[in-house]
Amino acid sequence: VTPVAEGRYIGIDLGGSKIEGVVLDAALAPVARTRLPTERERGYQHIVERVSGLAHELRRLAPACRGIGIGTPGSLSRAHGTLKNSNTVCLNGRPLLADLQARLDVPVWLENDANCFALAEARGGAGRGHRLVFGIILGTGVGGGIVWNGALWPGFQSIAGEWGHHRIDPGGPDCYCGRRGCVETYLSGPALEGAYARAGGPRCSASEIAARAARGETRASEILDDYCETFGRALANVINVLDPDVVVLGGGLSNVSELYGRGRDAVARWVFNDELRTAIVRNALGDSAGVIGAALLGADP
Ligand SMILES: [Zn+2]
Repeated sequence: VTPVAEGRYIGIDLGGSKIEGVVLDAALAPVARTRLPTERERGYQHIVERVSGLAHELRRLAPACRGIGIGTPGSLSRAHGTLKNSNTVCLNGRPLLADLQARLDVPVWLENDANCFALAEARGGAGRGHRLVFGIILGTGVGGGIVWNGALWPGFQSIAGEWGHHRIDPGGPDCYCGRRGCVETYLSGPALEGAYARAGGPRCSASEIAARAARGETRASEILDDYCETFGRALANVINVLDPDVVVLGGGLSNVSELYGRGRDAVARWVFNDELRTAIVRNALGDSAGVIGAALLGADP
């Protein structure tokens, strides 16, 4: 292994299917990358060994690094030091940070993956130059993160930005969190795909539904209208509280271009203001935002 002399920050994105690692230089540009399957079916200890193994490998590439930032779904309970709300359920209730720290000889930081996304886009992506950035993930799940003047705001209980579990309809669909009618049950990729199938369409991906709507298919267009309307109502609720300068969209659904047109119009109708000046933009860092944001957990704002 040849060390990368300019390596400063190490980030690891621990997802349900893959673990991705990156080394950034002092200018926050990636100088090394690696990835491996999570193999979550083999359980908690196996995942801990895989993440710490990857961290050791990246440490050899960047011996001068200050520490290792890790992004993953869910968040750390301040009271108990254990992970909660992760959709990789074998991690929930486990002291993931302490177990990783015990295996590594540099500081380790652990943060929610949507928070890492928001941090990366605020510092070096589509939110750059803005004071208050709300970064949102529209993918398998729906999450969000808040960055103020380049610094992440995780919140008092580490749940800041979790708009995906705002209940917008108490009688709505069941959510994995145990409640009903959460934003995520309408705006996630599986939710859009399910709505299209229930309307009589074939089982297909969210991007295919958007493509069908763009080709003029009525059913797809109506489903997408509903989606944009719900997006508007849900996001306007957040804007009423936070009033961010910019909202940066990430995750697979951020490629649905209607969100920046019809979706934005719906936000404007629902927001508590006579106009909508908030920028609603697509991410600039693509799939790399999460792992870059994890690496930035150790960088000064
Ligand atoms: Zn929920």
